[in-house]
Amino acid sequence: MAQIMTRRFFLKGFGVFLVAVSLPKIGRWIMSYQPVDSYIKYMWEHPASCMASLACAPHGELVDSLVEYGDYATMFGIKCPCGNQSFQLKGKDIETGYAGISAPIQAVCAGCEKKHLIFDGTKHGYDAELGLSCSHNEEFKDKDVICPTCGGTNFLVAVAFQYGGEEQEIIDEDNLDKKREDLFSWFSGHARCESCKHVFEFTSIECA
Ligand SMILES: [Zn+2]
Ligand SMILES: [Zn+2]
Repeated sequence: MAQIMTRRFFLKGFGVFLVAVSLPKIGRWIMSYQPVDSYIKYMWEHPASCMASLACAPHGELVDSLVEYGDYATMFGIKCPCGNQSFQLKGKDIETGYAGISAPIQAVCAGCEKKHLIFDGTKHGYDAELGLSCSHNEEFKDKDVICPTCGGTNFLVAVAFQYGGEEQEIIDEDNLDKKREDLFSWFSGHARCESCKHVFEFTSIECA
């Protein structure tokens, strides 16, 4: 994993550098849509299986949050099959003082009230897919996401996946029956409050 980590952090730094030196305000989120190569372009076209059935284009203000994750990251909005894009978010409070939530994470549709599991660290991401770890948060108490600005509980949501760039090599080497988009090394969730429009990160989980 050392190789992957190194590359990830190099790319992260490079992405931030590009944004800092060259992008005016308006073009910022549009630029972050531009895949650096065909490998990550494929990832933008293939949401990870954990939420693929809900995937839609992410809201522009949420894509802005992706900048800090570098060039090897993708983002997808979520949309309930009923057509609604407003959700309450439920997860676990792992008692570290982190303001956000930890997994398993559910998005509850504000329209039809259907609960969608969008990420579970015991099933999704690099380590879970390759059987390298199993962190169970079930013993921790439930925690709902609340807007830090206004206390609102309904959000427009997007999720981001960060990759190392060697996922396909790993699959090919060991002839694994896996999809490269499912071997993400970092998962994060981003919300835009429906009441006050505040944008914030509500979860950030290392998966490798
Ligand atoms: Zn719904
Ligand atoms: Zn708010």
